[in-house]
Formats: sequence, structure tokens, C-alpha cells
Amino acid sequence: MTGHVEPTITNGGGPVFCIDIGGSFMKFAVSPAPGALVPLERIDTPADDWDVFAGSISALLDRHRASAPIAAPLALSIAGLVDPRTGVATSANIPCITGRRIALDLSALLGRPVVAANDADCLTLAEANEGAGRGHPVVFCAVMGTGIGGGLAIDGHLVRGAGGVTGEWGHGPILNTSVEIEGKTLHIPRFSCGCGQSGCVDTIGGARGIERLHGFLHGRSETSHDILDQWQAGDDGARLTVAAYLELVADPLALTVNVTGASIVPVGGGLASVTPLIEALDRAVRKRILNRFDSPLVVPAARQEDGGLVGAAVLGHQRALAGEGG
Ligand SMILES: [Zn+2]
Repeated sequence: MTGHVEPTITNGGGPVFCIDIGGSFMKFAVSPAPGALVPLERIDTPADDWDVFAGSISALLDRHRASAPIAAPLALSIAGLVDPRTGVATSANIPCITGRRIALDLSALLGRPVVAANDADCLTLAEANEGAGRGHPVVFCAVMGTGIGGGLAIDGHLVRGAGGVTGEWGHGPILNTSVEIEGKTLHIPRFSCGCGQSGCVDTIGGARGIERLHGFLHGRSETSHDILDQWQAGDDGARLTVAAYLELVADPLALTVNVTGASIVPVGGGLASVTPLIEALDRAVRKRILNRFDSPLVVPAARQEDGGLVGAAVLGHQRALAGEGG
């Protein structure tokens, strides 16, 4: 742990500004106190130019300076990774922050404490403190969107771990290569993954993954939306695809539950909106884990819409109360 010192926050539980920074737009809000959030504004993200990006955040704070005391802390949820050792951000969707120590650089510019975390980690914090995971000591949040991500919270606090990649269950060569569906054995290849490995959960578990699996099984190129619609309508081909999908994805998710000891797994990302899919995944995971649950374990995230802002606010308040950065 060298080199990275985020500014000390000691605002004694006062207001925290927060921004959910996505590749297309930024949502800006103030959290007057833990558990409260007031949305203020939404603007486009200047993703390609750091000076314009930083300037637009400065202008947001200026426009809303009446909402919080001078130098109120700023907490960021970003569509990218933040290395906990160095504070350096990496983002495919917001190129201008890649290589920046985003919290330190913004703090110097804005003259206030700034903290930043990845959007999946912010959703995890939101779910653990103010969502489906409230009251659960160990919350594993699974993000199932275009691809696969996740985050882990213990006692309401984020576990960042080495490199800030705790909870990234999408990457690791753990995909089964054969599944039994209705008495038939299907052989599934280890698809190559963007991370450089092959057989990652990410190659099958997200929306692109369902499409890849469906294409492999049936030679048809269809959107995940159409495949899941057909599955719910009882189509035979889609039924096979989703049955194989559930077999393949439930294994690593069950392993993750065993390893983390999570008693709730809120699911975020686009696939979380397909309730029957999450219910089927819940049944498949609960069949595989050591601990027995009588109530749902894998559930749709409760803060899917505002998880970035809520999680950033939680992070800001936690750091402020602890009087620490990093
Ligand atoms: Zn991978």
C-alpha cells in the first residue's frame, strides 16, 4: 500500500455531493444526511477531454453551491475501475479519466475532499445499506448486464481487496464444458474472453453471453431480449438455451456464495429486469450451495435505478464519519 493518499474527510456527518458518472451522462445529487438523497441535475459526460470533464463538474458544484456548505465532500460512482493502491482510474467508456488519479486530481482542482469507486461497487454499497441487502452482514452483488461484474460488502462496508477487483466473478476459467439438459449432454466450448482467458463466466453470463450461447446451440443470431421473450413464451430453442445458461452460470455463482458467506445476492444490470430469469437462477443456485435458504437468495437489486448515486452517497458518508480517505 504505497503512494495513494486520498484527502481526509471530516465533515461530521454533514451533506455529501455525489455524481454517478456513466459513459453517456452524469447524474448529480446531494445527500444531506445518510439515507437521504436529493437529485439535482443530469448532464452529458464529456468523456474525451479531461479539462472539459473536470470543468463541467466544477460548474455543477458552482450551480448548486446553495445545497451544501462550502467544501462539502464529493463522492463519485464511475463506469470504470479505481485501483485502491494508486487511485488510478481505468475506463473504456470515459477515456479522459483513464490513467488519472481521479479523486486526487479533482480534489486539488475543486478544493474539497473527493472519493471515487467503481459503479458495481457503488451498487453493492447501495444494496447493502439501503436496498435488498439491508440487514444482511455479507452481501454479494452480482451485476449481469452486457457482461458480468460484482461487488462484496461486509457489515455495510465495501471490500475492495487487492487491485480493487473483489467480486469480479465474471473472469476466471471456471466454466463447465458439458451440461445435461433433458437427458441430453451438450458440449459447450470455452469461448475466448476479452480479459485474455477462455471459459470465463463473462463469455456466457451477460446479455452478449446469452446471445453467444444461443448462436452456438442453434446457429441463430438473436438479441438477448428476443431470446428471453421466446423463452417466456415457451419456445423450444430458447428453452434449451436458457436451461444451459442456468446450469453454466449457477455453478460459479453458487461457488461465490459458498466462498463469501453471502446471505443475499442482489442482481443489477439489464438481465435483472427479467424477473423469471432471476427467479430461475435463484432456484438453480440454492440447489447447489452448502447453506440452505428457505427464502430467495438471488433477487433483483432494489436500487437498480439510483444505485450509483445512493452508493456514492454511502461511500462519502462512511469516509466522512471514519474521518479517512483511501
Ligand atoms: Zn474473462
